[in-house]
Amino acid sequence: MRKYLAVALIVPILSSCAYFTQSSNPSRGISSIETQLSTLQVEDIKSEVAEKLEQIEYMHLMAYETMAQFDLYLDTNPGELQDNPHYPALLAARSQIEGLQDEIIDLRDQFYKASINESLPVEDRLKSVDMLSAILPETDNSINRLVFFNLISNYELFTKVVLNDLSKIEDESVKRKMEKFYNKLSFQFGPLKEKSDEAQDWKILTSKARAALADKPEWQAAKRNLEHMAQEVRFELIQLNKMQKSGANKFYPTVEKAGNIVGTEFPAKVWSLTFDDGPGPKTSKKVIDNLKTHGLKATFFQLTQNAKSFGVAAKMIRDEGMDIASHSYSHPQVPKLSLEQRDREIRIAASDLSIIHGRPMKFFRLPYGAGVSNTDIRTRIANANMIHVFWSVDTLDWMAQAPSEIVARAKKQILASSRDAGVILFHDIHERTVIASEEVMRFLKQDSRRVCTLDQIVEAMNRGETPCPAP
Ligand SMILES: [Zn+2]
Repeated sequence: MRKYLAVALIVPILSSCAYFTQSSNPSRGISSIETQLSTLQVEDIKSEVAEKLEQIEYMHLMAYETMAQFDLYLDTNPGELQDNPHYPALLAARSQIEGLQDEIIDLRDQFYKASINESLPVEDRLKSVDMLSAILPETDNSINRLVFFNLISNYELFTKVVLNDLSKIEDESVKRKMEKFYNKLSFQFGPLKEKSDEAQDWKILTSKARAALADKPEWQAAKRNLEHMAQEVRFELIQLNKMQKSGANKFYPTVEKAGNIVGTEFPAKVWSLTFDDGPGPKTSKKVIDNLKTHGLKATFFQLTQNAKSFGVAAKMIRDEGMDIASHSYSHPQVPKLSLEQRDREIRIAASDLSIIHGRPMKFFRLPYGAGVSNTDIRTRIANANMIHVFWSVDTLDWMAQAPSEIVARAKKQILASSRDAGVILFHDIHERTVIASEEVMRFLKQDSRRVCTLDQIVEAMNRGETPCPAP
């Protein structure tokens, strides 16, 4: 399960701004669903999930609008990433979208566990399968495929899990119902489902969809909420900027400036490629092949839960000589967590990842960068003997779009950077990133730029040497 537990059963999300609060009551586990099954109503759960899906759609449509503004601003005001006034809204939107997705996935996984639990009464198991059917996201039109693409790829993986478990179900009535559910699931998300390329048309599709929503009060409320959240992110980026302006360019684990890398401090022409949120079972290998082709090394900020799920891919990246760093256990918004959960997502995540890889983690990146100016969070990272790593170029590759758009955005930010130096943020879990990052590798190799891992850069800078000198 990706996070702690679904609020959905306990807190209705219908109030206007409740969807900021990503929930979580760690004491409620699968047992809570099991004990509540008899009182749960399919229709209630269905409408709660529909509400979450609607909010994901709104946030995503606003993120597309904001990305267009981000690109336009970059064209007319070339400068550092943090100066782009549209950037905070993009960070805020992403964290909201992923938080809501996680809630739906948690809920689905709980019902799924209940439905395959042989020790539960058959009646409850049948009801759980009904719940699974009721909460399937709709993928029947282009906008839905565009704004739910991350949820859809999670459901693709889920389809394989269900297929794998089907033969293990002993009760005949549950098995029959689950087979029906699997057929429905497979029709919508299975391997034969035709993959269309709406990403190419996102500008037309999303502007039409936004126009249709313009007068809806829920859309207006979501817009206000995004702006409110963006203000918080904006404030945090201002704090980060203030902190980075003073002090020497040496790096070590500390809550001060020296414990946080942005990339703008690097010597001229020094670049670091970073890939977050992986490993991806299919995509990471392709990124590695491209890096090898270009003779480059990069740093991979892995999620411990993904490194456990996709152990072969995780270790392959390490064995190819790449830097491995920690990106938390399950990609939460760390400032919203309890102290105990923060410990799990920072210290334990890094410690478990270091066991997988047989080496200590030197670098940590907060999901969405959230909490980078928070003293408690930064102290925890430093106490775990890690340096936090922010970024200076954001490719925005988490949104579906043509790879050429990601490349154009990356190049513009690279050229706009004051020293032609910095840290580039990608996510090695998307096919579009495989293609776009290869183009960026090609671009970085021009104009006597040098590309190396964060560890190589930090080691050299701390010795007062030039990082990754030309061979
Ligand atoms: Zn991330």
